[in-house]
Amino acid sequence: MIAMKMKQQQFDCIREQAMRLAAMDTSLYHAKFAGLDLAGMKNQEDFETLPFTDKADLRQAYPLGLAAVPMEQVVRIHSSSGTTGTPVIIPYTKKDVEDWAVQFARCYEIAGCTPEDRIQITPGYGLWTAGIGFQAGAELLGAMAIPMGPGNTEKQLTFMRDMGATVLCATSSYALLLTEEIEKRGMRSQLKLKKGVIGSERWGEKTRRRIREGLGIELYDIYGLTEIYGPGIGINCAYDCGMHVFDDFCYYEIIDPDTGKTVPDGQMGELVITTLRKEGAPLIRFRTHDITRFIPGKCPCGRDYPRIDVIMGRSDDLFKVKGVNMYPAQVEEILRAVPGTSSEYQVEICHVDGKDRMTVSFETAEPESRYGDLEAQVRTLFKSRLGMTPEARAVGMGVLPRSEKKTKRVYDLRG
Ligand code: ZN
Repeated sequence: MIAMKMKQQQFDCIREQAMRLAAMDTSLYHAKFAGLDLAGMKNQEDFETLPFTDKADLRQAYPLGLAAVPMEQVVRIHSSSGTTGTPVIIPYTKKDVEDWAVQFARCYEIAGCTPEDRIQITPGYGLWTAGIGFQAGAELLGAMAIPMGPGNTEKQLTFMRDMGATVLCATSSYALLLTEEIEKRGMRSQLKLKKGVIGSERWGEKTRRRIREGLGIELYDIYGLTEIYGPGIGINCAYDCGMHVFDDFCYYEIIDPDTGKTVPDGQMGELVITTLRKEGAPLIRFRTHDITRFIPGKCPCGRDYPRIDVIMGRSDDLFKVKGVNMYPAQVEEILRAVPGTSSEYQVEICHVDGKDRMTVSFETAEPESRYGDLEAQVRTLFKSRLGMTPEARAVGMGVLPRSEKKTKRVYDLRG
């Protein structure tokens, strides 16, 4: 079984782009592709020998070294998280901004949104690509955007009710927080919400069910990252079997993060993206560090766009305890298999007496007399599925910290 087949049109486009960037002495690809026979590149196999582009390459280009057009054609910049050192600056041309909105509007359409909808946007605005992308797509679709930005739960709920919002755009943790607040206030019947478009961080089935049932809405996962336009380059359809990604704007590969080789369709690996039309900052073989897989076959909705699975984690989220590799997604799967546990959990790993010690804390609505039993079940499942036994700790509902941004769940204190 071979990996996703590259279309001729995609290949021609990438080859032309690679040659153009390599010839441009201000491009990071000038050095990266030096000495490679790009003109002689004949097929997908040749393409797969090209070096990857990583976030470190992008950081080195700070401030505006990624620009592949004269600066007067750049109409906007965005920046991805600068929490670890130099930020990455992505320049956009007018066409890039339009192309992004086209993809985002397509996402809303796939989610069944129409110009009738009123779309409440809670992701952040500013250097982030989040809020403004949700807004541009909504406006291109012809829907009404309600550009709230994050936080101020009281005002969110007032606007949601008074504006008659039908679609909520949020991170999963913020959608969960709003669900809890709406229930607490008993105001569901005053709201017109029908759908949630949720940012593509890794989130568990329990959280999903909690929001879906708590609010009685359909949920859609939207995918994207600042380096490649932003959110809105992929979304699941009503059949909810993976996210469609738009292969007329980008070429997608899944690789083994250790070997760098593409994996057969259906296997988990790291998503790698090559832009096909981007002008401001075209990227070739950009490593997203997102763990997912291609879903083989055709979607029942009939759309031909390829599908990727929900993001299972970050390749750098991988953590090793007592010699066992784990993703947070696996912890969630185990907790899901134990009735009575909730989707809120936290993992703490420390080093005690020369040994790793992992503690899994999880929330439960069960009475305290059941805690010991739940903890034992969690320990047993870790042992049988992952071959290691952590400490397990049951706590009451609402005890673990929530955040309006992405919730950090794994704390590695081994230094
Ligand atoms: Zn579909």
